[in-house]
Amino acid sequence: MNTYSQLPVTFIKGEGVWLWDDQGKRYLDALAGIAVCGLGHCHPQLAKALCEQAGTLIHTSNLYHIDKQEKLATQLTGLAGMDNVYFCNSGAEANETAIKLARLYGHNSGVDLPSIIVMERSFHGRSMATLTASGNRKVQAGFEPLLTGFVRVPYNNLEAVSQIAVSNKNIVAVLVEPYQGEGGVNIPQKKYLQGLREICDQYDWLLMLDEVQSGIGRSGKWFAFQHSDIKPDIMTLAKGLGSGVAIGACLARGAAAEVFKPGNHASTFGGNPLACAAAITTLDVIAEDSLLDNAMKLGAYMRQRFAEELAKELGVVEIRGQGLMIGIELSKSCGDLVKQALAQGLLINVTSDKVVRLLPALVMRQEEADKAIDITSKLIKDFLAD
Ligand SMILES: *Cc1c(COP(=O)(O)O)cnc(C)c1O
Repeated sequence: MNTYSQLPVTFIKGEGVWLWDDQGKRYLDALAGIAVCGLGHCHPQLAKALCEQAGTLIHTSNLYHIDKQEKLATQLTGLAGMDNVYFCNSGAEANETAIKLARLYGHNSGVDLPSIIVMERSFHGRSMATLTASGNRKVQAGFEPLLTGFVRVPYNNLEAVSQIAVSNKNIVAVLVEPYQGEGGVNIPQKKYLQGLREICDQYDWLLMLDEVQSGIGRSGKWFAFQHSDIKPDIMTLAKGLGSGVAIGACLARGAAAEVFKPGNHASTFGGNPLACAAAITTLDVIAEDSLLDNAMKLGAYMRQRFAEELAKELGVVEIRGQGLMIGIELSKSCGDLVKQALAQGLLINVTSDKVVRLLPALVMRQEEADKAIDITSKLIKDFLAD
């Protein structure tokens, strides 16, 4: 169906941070399949693990125990300090799971019409519940009636959340991205998550973090919440988890981990052996190759270099990010930059109309980053000079 306006290029091969199109032209990939291919393209350990798993067992369904799923669950909950996990196949599904869990949690505590606080400029997916939760009219328009049970507040505004607590007794949870991705790489004040944690504790609400984009090393830690001193009740993952093999996850802790009972939620494909092999290998390689450290250092280096390159540009509003989630906000719409970069053999993205976004693989090296910075900076300067 006509759901995408695609760029005029077809990639047929990838290796590390490089892609090749069907004409043999090589591209530097600073987007990694939208924060998915953290290990770069076709990491040999991942390719090997997938081949082995494909030749052993691909799918059995959740009617039976799945050894790889249990292994991945132990690994993930260990890294996150959470209690249990439900596996699905995408970010939208992971958030859908969180929303259902919050509603059931509400009903179990005597709230008949449970509501969830969500943020302006958020993005949580394209299913009916997750597009309702998203703070972007473009995502919702034409799909009304939307769901009820969501209350929207500005991002990075604790006061707005506190006020709702006083007036609305139906709130059961807050759903928020620790760093907003699609909304323009927005980084909240340092104490934002802590503030939300305190409010949630005070009112027995679930703090539900959408780490679909920020998780799995992208921020320079396993999960973005680990930059603050708190833990969520619920965390959702997807994008980087399977390095391109579809897998999503919804992790829970404490009371939230006890909410679902058999029959409440399910997925045919969720957590199958092949997807779990991909995720296990992804986590193993990130740990073995110190990729968190690389993401943290390289991200800081890239923002610093962009700041130097673009210091004199009045049209650059802000350079921001955390780890390898990097946004450069310009003063005007800049979607054209994506095509211009493509012509020069570089993959970048523009989100929220004015924000140039880079989401490189966690394996990117400094000389590769330098090349991406050189091309991007020059394009931005020329674009602003027009
Ligand atoms: C991409 C994204 C989603 C949706 O994930 P899909 O796998 O496309 O359904 C949800 N939340 C955030 C923060 C995302 O970046």
